[in-house]
Amino acid sequence: MPVYLVFFGPPGSGKGTQASRLANTLGVPQISTGDLLRDHVSRGTELGKTAKPIMESGALVPDDLVTAMLKDRLLMEDAAGGALFDGYPRTLPQAEALEGLLASTGSGISAVLFIDVPDEVITGRILKRAELEGRADDTQDAVRERLRVYREKTAPLARHYEAAGLLVTIDGNRGVDEVAEDVRRVASGRS
Ligand code: ADP
Repeated sequence: MPVYLVFFGPPGSGKGTQASRLANTLGVPQISTGDLLRDHVSRGTELGKTAKPIMESGALVPDDLVTAMLKDRLLMEDAAGGALFDGYPRTLPQAEALEGLLASTGSGISAVLFIDVPDEVITGRILKRAELEGRADDTQDAVRERLRVYREKTAPLARHYEAAGLLVTIDGNRGVDEVAEDVRRVASGRS
């Protein structure tokens, strides 16, 4: 049975770092919709042209576009044994779409790892990353908007997954290795 884990948390929570580490350990791909979209932007595809200004403002790319992109990625051979979702789902319609996609192959989400980090820590981390990486959406305004959108559209997913008995909360306000140890423990108990 393939293992599908969702990494969930505010921007800057470290979910991408943790998903990438666990992907190496488990030998399944990390599927980051943010990375996939940035790739479209850099290749100048139609999707990339649509997504670029939306991403730069800190808003969400429309559900149907992101879901179609995710569906294509899931069909690739390396995802046959499972995947770690990083940055998807971000809205309730995306969560429902993912459930439908996985159910169509007789599987489902094993667990949702909520990487919990307080707001004041988040803002500091993202602005520091902006200095290091120069991501186009790491400006102060875009960061503020991403946090607002996160609270409004994405954070409510915690209740959805809690009701489904899938939510596992991990204290993300610790060193990368300590968080990774908890993530590994949860993943091995749930897969
Ligand atoms: P972060 O979690 O640090 O904000 P990501 O790399 O996950 O960064 O996402 C960057 C941007 O890409 C988002 O602000 C949004 O515009 C777009 N994006 C990524 N994933 C999704 C998604 N699942 N649905 C809609 N937009 C998305």
